[in-house]
Amino acid sequence: MADDDIPFDRSFEFTPDVPKEVAPGVRAIVADNPSPFTFHGTMSYVIGTGPYAVVDPGPNDDKHIAALLAATGGDVSHIFVTHTHRDHSPGTAPLKKATGAKVYAEGPHRLSRDLNVGESFPLDAAADTDFRPDVALKDGEAVKGDGFTIEAVTTPGHTANHMAYALKEQNLLFSGDHVMGWSTPVVAPPDGAMSDYMASLRKLMPRRETLYLSGHGSPIRDAPRFVRSYIRHRQAREASILHRLGKGETDIPTLVRAIYIGIDPRLVKAAGLSVLAHLEDLVARGVVATQGQPSIEGSYRLL
Ligand SMILES: [Zn+2]
Repeated sequence: MADDDIPFDRSFEFTPDVPKEVAPGVRAIVADNPSPFTFHGTMSYVIGTGPYAVVDPGPNDDKHIAALLAATGGDVSHIFVTHTHRDHSPGTAPLKKATGAKVYAEGPHRLSRDLNVGESFPLDAAADTDFRPDVALKDGEAVKGDGFTIEAVTTPGHTANHMAYALKEQNLLFSGDHVMGWSTPVVAPPDGAMSDYMASLRKLMPRRETLYLSGHGSPIRDAPRFVRSYIRHRQAREASILHRLGKGETDIPTLVRAIYIGIDPRLVKAAGLSVLAHLEDLVARGVVATQGQPSIEGSYRLL
């Protein structure tokens, strides 16, 4: 993928289901669910010295839940969930059952926009529609635990309900799949929305956290610079879509072939949805025209 403009870090020194300290009082435990979308697996985080908080229990995987219980001695008071994709939230139910912890998140799964007529939900299998938080957090809300204070930061885009969490005592941000060290996230309509995603990146710019602990991959140091490169990357992607449309290309499969050179074949569908996300945003801004609602089969031209 043409994303060498971002200083990615694809080193990864974690062993599945073995805790490792990533900041004072914060341990990461990677689940054993590697894939082209999850890198080496989903990162769960354990905060504090007990009672503990867990950020993203991960998939509903017995071995991973056992590892979270072993790392905490079962003493978990808070569970924070960044978003409702199946690699992040389904572990919540068994962890809550075993510990009695209270579950915090932005809300249940929902789409970023209504489905268009005849449109199906293309990445449906990725969504955890069973998830319900005990407490629905608002942007800026603070939650205090034993030795930690968490600030909720709404960051829609990857999903409508994506939420990042700042750990005030450590000046770090659990960035979920909004900002990751190894790759940019999939922003796939109607689950996600590019205009929301870009606004959520810009929202992070004035924040003071320099360390991001994300849903996949190693910790991100120098996070503000990294976020700037993410924004520039999306702007460059948008520019290449406009360039291709200017050359007379009109459909998403052609745009994907031209823009995502050498892409992993398993990611072609996601890349098409990512281009659709950009086109939706461009149509909303009046830069690009299409017939009817923007769709994956649509034909597009510059205005
Ligand atoms: Zn994820």
